[in-house]
Parts: sequence; structure tokens; C-alpha cells
Amino acid sequence: MTERRNIFYYYKQDEEIVSKVAPLFEASERYGFTIVDDAREANIIASIGNDGDFLQAVRKTGFRNDCLYMGISTKHNLNMYCDFKIDDTSKMINAMLNEQLEVRRYPLIEISIDGQGTFQCLNEFSIRSSIIKTLVIDVFVDSLHLETFRGDGLIVATPTGSTAYNKSVKGAIVDPQLTCMQVSEVASINNNSYRTLGASFILSGERTLTLKVVSENNDHPTMGMDNEALSIRHVDKIQIRLSENKLKTLKLKDNSFWEKVKRTFL
Ligand code: NAP
Ligand code: MN
Repeated sequence: MTERRNIFYYYKQDEEIVSKVAPLFEASERYGFTIVDDAREANIIASIGNDGDFLQAVRKTGFRNDCLYMGISTKHNLNMYCDFKIDDTSKMINAMLNEQLEVRRYPLIEISIDGQGTFQCLNEFSIRSSIIKTLVIDVFVDSLHLETFRGDGLIVATPTGSTAYNKSVKGAIVDPQLTCMQVSEVASINNNSYRTLGASFILSGERTLTLKVVSENNDHPTMGMDNEALSIRHVDKIQIRLSENKLKTLKLKDNSFWEKVKRTFL
């Protein structure tokens, strides 16, 4: 038997979901788990819903590194962060009881904006022009000025986030066993005045990426962390690096990242 006994379920209070959770709650208690109302008391945090809900569950509970996260899908098809289907109660209980066997660690990125605190992201940090004018950003890798970007915006994705927004702009899909971050462009202008790589690039965990927003009447871009908009509006300098923290998630056997990629996209 395991020592992890407190479980916090994160889910939307909508009728359809509430009607599906009862058998799961009943089984968790029968196998000796305590369902807690306060996430801070939990050793296991389980999100019930889809990938968007999993991202929220992780964010709202503070990217705990002393906790195991698990994603439970309410639909028939599994999502990228959801390894379990709501009806597969026995598979879930089994995994929770044998959690030490199947734990996955997902790289996270850490964002610092004008020294106003740091934020973590599981999918990506994105910055986009919020007006019709293009956004201009000086891009630095460590202390090297790499390029001046002019266009709609930039996406900095984790490996697990590489299949989300990053993929829509033709970024590569990255194995989460690689601790790295990927920078992808959204509609860059490339002509004789403005030049960018025009390709996504992947930085090692040792690098720091710095984005300096060049004002030109466009210093209130829209910034997003996973599925949440940042309330900070004015921005000059953004620093992004890999977090020392990794998100621990519970997984099922035969459900590797590449199996998920195949099942979701192919
Ligand atoms: P949403 O607008 O409802 O979801 C966008 C889609 O992305 C949903 O189908 C969602 O799956 C899926 N998704 C989320 N994380 C994923 C991942 N790591 N790999 C593959 N697919 C993923 O918003 P949301 O559900 O709250 O998700 C937020 C994410 O949407 C952001 O982090 C960003 O990556 C992505 N996004 C994409 C675009 C784009 O592709 N043009 C634009 C904005 C945001 P579920 O249905 O399971 O939730
Ligand atoms: Mn969604």
C-alpha cells in the first residue's frame, strides 16, 4: 500500500460532469483514499475534464512539485494530458495504488516579466500584438542578440506544449524526455528591412531567452500563459528559462507520449 492517501479532484461544477464522478469518488474511498476539499492537503491532484481543464488544475494548485497530477478525460477519446477515462475506475485506482511505478516528469518553463514576479507554464508562453500594427521584439539567446522579430507574435513552448499552439504554426513536436523549450514565430515579416530565422528553434535547459518589446506604439501586447491571459499589460523585458521544477504526472502503461501523438493526430 502506498502512503499517498489524499486526493483532490478538480472539475467544473456542471451537471454532466457531476453525474459522472460519483462512481469514481466511491471507489477512491473504498480503496482507502481520502477526498480532500483543499488542494493544499492533497498528495494526488486529479483533473476531470479535458486538456484545458488539466492546465487550469495545475495552474490553480500552483504547479506543486510534491504532488502527483493525473488527468481524467470525460470524453471517449483521451486527450494529451488525460491518461484515464472517467469510466475506467479500476485502472485509475490501480495506478494510484502503484503510483511509484509509472510517473512521468514534464518540463515547465519559467517566465519573468519586468521583474514583476515569475510565472510557470506547462504548455507555452505566448505574446501577440493586440492591435492591427505589427509587434517588434528583440530576441536574445543568453546575451546574444539573435534577431529582431516583426510580425504577429512569438510562442515559447515546452515539449508537452509542442503539440498545442506551437504545432498550429508548424513548430516541431518534441519528446518531453528532452528538457528544452521551443521558440516559434507567428507570421513574421521577412523582407530587406526585417529578417528572422523563419524557423522554429529549440533551446537547451541551460539557455535564457530574453524578449525585449520595442515600443513603437505597440507596448501593450497580449500575453498568455497556457490558457490564461496575463493581467500585466505594459511590458519591456521578458526572460524565459526552463524551470528547475518538473510536473510529476501519473501514467498508464502503454501510453507513452508518442502513443498519445499517434492517437491524437494520426
Ligand atoms: P481551447 O481554445 O479550448 O483549446 C485549444 C485546443 O488545444 C483544444 O482542443 C485543447 O484540447 C488542445 N490542447 C491544449 N493543450 C494541448 C496540448 N498540450 N497538446 C495538444 N492539444 C492541446 O483552449 P484550452 O483547452 O484552454 O487550451 C489552451 C491551449 O490552447 C493553449 O495553451 C494553446 O496551446 C492552445 N491554443 C492554440 C491556438 C492555435 O492552435 N491557434 C490558439 C490559442 C491557444 P482539449 O479540447 O482537450 O482542451
Ligand atoms: Mn479546451
